[in-house]
Amino acid sequence: MFGFLKQKSCLLCHAPNKDAVCEGCLNDLRRLYLRADSVCPLCAAFSVNAAVCGHCQNHPPRYARLWASAEYAAPLPALLHEWKHLSRNAFSAVFQTLMRENPPPWLPESGADCILAMPLSRQRRLFRGFNQCDETAETAADIYGLPVLSRDTVFRQHKPPQSTLSQAERRRNVRGVFQAAPSVKNRKILIIDDVLTTGATLSELARSLRHAGASAVFVWVLARNRGKNI
Ligand SMILES: [Zn+2]
Ligand SMILES: [Zn+2]
Repeated sequence: MFGFLKQKSCLLCHAPNKDAVCEGCLNDLRRLYLRADSVCPLCAAFSVNAAVCGHCQNHPPRYARLWASAEYAAPLPALLHEWKHLSRNAFSAVFQTLMRENPPPWLPESGADCILAMPLSRQRRLFRGFNQCDETAETAADIYGLPVLSRDTVFRQHKPPQSTLSQAERRRNVRGVFQAAPSVKNRKILIIDDVLTTGATLSELARSLRHAGASAVFVWVLARNRGKNI
C-alpha cells in the first residue's frame, strides 16, 4: 500500500526516475546555458564577440568580471521560487548541476582566493530560515577548493525588497546597506548570487568590499534575468 509514494520521480516532470532530475529535463535546462563568447563580461547581456556592452561602458560595475551560468527562463524561475521560499532543498541538485556544467571559464585564472555568498539581512534570514546562496557558495567552494567567508564577514542592513523598485530607486535603496569586515583586506573575492536583475545590489556589495580593502571582486550568478535590462 502506498508503494507508489516511495517511487522516485523527476522533480520537474514527475516521470519515474532514479535521480532528482531526469536526463530529458536536464537537457531542457542545458538549452539555457550562456556562453562566454556571446555575452558582456560585466553583465552577461547578449553582446557580439563578448564586448563590454554600452550600458557597462557608461556605468562600470564595481566588480572585475561577472558570469551567469544560464538565462533566467522556464523552468528556472519556478525552481528558484520553490527553493528560496519553500526551502525545497531537493532542488539544489538542479542548481549544482548547472554550476558544475557551466562555471565561469575565467575563474581558474582570476586568482580568486575565497567565496562569499550574497548576504541576507538578519531579518530576512530569520524569516526565510536559510540563505539559499550559502548552499550555492558551498557548491562553488567544492568545485574550486576555495574557502567560504563566514556569515559575519559582511553585515547587511534590512531594506524593502528590490523587486518593487525602479532601476534608479534600486541604486539609491542599496547605497550603503553593506558593511564589510576588515578581514576582507587584500582578498580576491568571488561573490555568489542566484539571479542577476539590475546588478545594483551586486555592484554595491562589490563597492563595500573594495572599500574595506578587498583587492579584487568577481561575481558568479546562477541566472541572468533578461526581462529587466540592466
Ligand atoms: Zn524530468
Ligand atoms: Zn554589460
